[in-house]
Amino acid sequence: MPHGFKQMGEATAGMGTGGEFIKHVRLYEDQESAIIRFLTDADDVFWGPFHRVKKRTSTGREWWDSVFCLEELGQACELCREEISAGTQFLAWVWQYKMYHAKQVEGSRQVDVNGLIRYEEINDEPRLMRYSHMHKGSIEMRLQRLGTLTDRDYEWIRTGPRGTNRPTYMLEPVGDPSELSEKLVLLRKELPALEDIAHGKVRTLDGQAVGEKKKTAAPPADKRVVDVGTEEKEKSPEQPAEVTQEKEEGDFDPDDMPWGSGPPGY
Ligand SMILES: [Zn+2]
Repeated sequence: MPHGFKQMGEATAGMGTGGEFIKHVRLYEDQESAIIRFLTDADDVFWGPFHRVKKRTSTGREWWDSVFCLEELGQACELCREEISAGTQFLAWVWQYKMYHAKQVEGSRQVDVNGLIRYEEINDEPRLMRYSHMHKGSIEMRLQRLGTLTDRDYEWIRTGPRGTNRPTYMLEPVGDPSELSEKLVLLRKELPALEDIAHGKVRTLDGQAVGEKKKTAAPPADKRVVDVGTEEKEKSPEQPAEVTQEKEEGDFDPDDMPWGSGPPGY
C-alpha cells in the first residue's frame, strides 16, 4: 500500500451510523485561510486513489463523494469498470483553531489580516484535511525542510477565486515551534483511523471505536471537543448556505480536483 500507515484492528469495522459528521478543512474564496496544527505527521498521512462519485441528497441537491478505489485493495472495483474518474488524495487530521473567511458568516468578527478585511471564526475542533495530491506541494516543502509537520502551527491559505479549476494552497508557519498541548496529544489518539475514513467505514467523529477508547482514556478535552463540534454542526456557522450536512459528511470540493470543476453552486 502506498502510504505509511499503521493497520488498525477490527474494532473500528462497521462504524459510521449516527453521530457527528467529520468536518473538513475547506477554503472557498481567494485568500481565505485556516490556522491549523497537524495532528497527523508525515509517515501517517494517508494517500490513495479515489473515485469521484456524484450523489444526491434527500432534498435533491447534488454533491460529490470520494470513494476509495477497491483495486488498490486487490479487489474488483465497480467504479473502475464504469470508468468513473479517479485521482489521488491525501488525508490528514488537523486541529483547526480558526478560520479567516472572505465573507461574513454567523458568529464571525471582522478583523484586519495583512490589510485585508476578513471574518474570523473560532473553530477549535479536529478537522480532516482531504485534498487532491495536486495540493500537497507546500506541505511537502515543509516536510523536506523540517522533517515533521506537527512541531508548530500553520496557516493554510488558498489563492484562487471560488469556482476556479486551479486553486493553489500555501502552508505558512505561524510563530515558533511549540509542543503539542496535552489536550491535542490525547485527542490525536482518539481520532478515527484515516484508513477507515478513506475506506468509507467511518464517517463520524464519535463512532464506536472512539467511544470505546473513551471508556479507558476518557480525556475531558476530547469530550468537550465533540460537544462543541455537535453544537456548531447544528448552526453550521462557517458553511455557505448551499452546503448541506451531507456535503460536509463526505464531500470533496470539485474545484480542488485535478479533473476540473463541478456543477454550479459549489
Ligand atoms: Zn476503482
